[in-house]
Amino acid sequence: MDEILQIRNLSVEFYTRRGVLRAVDSVSLDVYKNQITAVVGESGSGKSTLASAILNVVQTPGIIVEGSEILFEGVDLLKLSEEEMRKYRWNEIAMVFQAAQNSLNPVVKIKDQILETYKAHRSATDQEIYERASKLLDYVRLDPERVLKSYPHELSGGMKQRVIIALSLLLNPKLLILDEPTTALDVITQAYIFDILVQLHKDTGITMLMFTHDVAIVAKIADRLAVMYAGKIVEVGDIREIFYNAKHPYTRGLLNAAPSLLDDVSKRKAIKGLPPDMISPPKGCRFHPRCSLANEYCREYEPCMKDLGNKHLVACHLYDKEALKDGSADVN
Ligand code: SF4
Ligand code: MG
Repeated sequence: MDEILQIRNLSVEFYTRRGVLRAVDSVSLDVYKNQITAVVGESGSGKSTLASAILNVVQTPGIIVEGSEILFEGVDLLKLSEEEMRKYRWNEIAMVFQAAQNSLNPVVKIKDQILETYKAHRSATDQEIYERASKLLDYVRLDPERVLKSYPHELSGGMKQRVIIALSLLLNPKLLILDEPTTALDVITQAYIFDILVQLHKDTGITMLMFTHDVAIVAKIADRLAVMYAGKIVEVGDIREIFYNAKHPYTRGLLNAAPSLLDDVSKRKAIKGLPPDMISPPKGCRFHPRCSLANEYCREYEPCMKDLGNKHLVACHLYDKEALKDGSADVN
């Protein structure tokens, strides 16, 4: 399996009046070609910041910390000039931002937005671009003729989101990043859009990196799952491995809390407590105030990622041999 994207030691900081907020903290993650990798975490865990850092479009005043690396097919995107980076955005890596429906220009017809996007990156005749756009709109189950001549307000939220997905595929990118691709849409429309994404992946094999708070939804479609908590990836592995053999107490909590993963509703249990204030996160393991297995060691030292084999990694002292040796941690 080849990695198309390797995130290495990525940190993003925001300087706020209250202090420095490290929204993404030393994250490393591999994304393999032709797979769907999902990053799951509660809102505020740093998902959107991580997503935008990949294309080096972190919102001001966010700063990507020195020493971070984003390797796309081996090239560190963070070392490229803005000019060089433009060759990657849309062409190689396309991104559907959170609440992307709202990013369509309300006073420009869809067909003109498509032309503009295409021509900003490549040259072709209008006719060629319309043909490509029509195919893609048809693919996302929209009527190209009607949609092309519409203004955004003439389309529903779900239709706009599908226009955005079609737009993201316009230049045939190798990697599609989706940040909460269905938030703000009703449940039926959400399912419909996920269905389209799965079909797209089946037909084209396009690599996807999807950020979501909804573990139940990605359970059905992802090949790999990374779990994010308070700016850090705490566990990552193949989907079956995570579902049947989750190691991190937070991952287990997320799975137990997910609505459609358990048949017996009475067994569903929300994780107690709240995520930390990111300006002053707890010392040691950031999950320790909410973790029923926390011990002195967890309150003092931050766990690092341990490779458990089978491409399954976890950051928790329960699996830390040093901690186990001195008897301060206890597995299961
Ligand atoms: Fe819980 Fe300790 Fe593991 Fe953190 S390191 S998840 S506090 S057991
Ligand atoms: Mg977000």
